Amino acid sequence: MMKDNIAEQAYLNLFPGSTADYDFRIVYTGRIKDYGAYVTLSGGVMEFRMSRKWYPISPEIQMGLMQELMAKLLKSRKPSMYIDLYNNFVKSLHLSIPKDKSHPQLEASFERVNERYFLGLVEQPNLVWGKFATTTFGSYDFKNDTVTISSVFRDVADTKYVDYIMFHEVLHKQRKFFKSGTKTYYHDKRFKRLEKVFEDGDAIEKELTTVVRREKAKAYYRKKKEDKAQKEQEARKVEKKRKGVFGWF
Ligand SMILES: [Zn+2]
Repeated sequence: MMKDNIAEQAYLNLFPGSTADYDFRIVYTGRIKDYGAYVTLSGGVMEFRMSRKWYPISPEIQMGLMQELMAKLLKSRKPSMYIDLYNNFVKSLHLSIPKDKSHPQLEASFERVNERYFLGLVEQPNLVWGKFATTTFGSYDFKNDTVTISSVFRDVADTKYVDYIMFHEVLHKQRKFFKSGTKTYYHDKRFKRLEKVFEDGDAIEKELTTVVRREKAKAYYRKKKEDKAQKEQEARKVEKKRKGVFGWF
């Protein structure tokens, strides 16, 4: 099967009877994160840019991904067997993904949460510290089975905050997602109910704002101190150079 044709096939399957009004192009690239993909439409060319990881995956599953992307692009809500196939594939991806990223602090948090709330039954995902993000505290990416937690919490002594965020993200891993039409729900009613199980969750949720504000201020002063130290070092370098130049004359 010609690879470029599967985009056209996906289109004709989703919109049967329509003449394919587009030229279809598929580009596999190593520059998109694992199992990522997006679609662009320009001058009648519908181009799918897909992570290289998709290349060996069966055409049916790739067609589901393309249909999902084109449905969003063309605002269609049509169901499709291929889209279901693709979503099931994404849901089981975590089983085959190498778990090679971790950090002792995050691992300890994951273990506490897993033991206490999941009977130790959840397989450890990749665990990474993310950017110093002050509005999004954590995320779970199904496509690389990775929990990312904002570095804001890295130096917070009380582990309950990281645990609270970890719990939310592990719940995502455990619960997967829920599809209705072309909409994907991550925080459906049942998710919200389960989330309430975390001990003192409501209080922690309220305290988070204060904790983040405090860590932000700490980071600000730390940065200021570092900048000052760096400036002083540079000034010393310039001074040395100047002396060197004079030495020549
Ligand atoms: Zn969430």
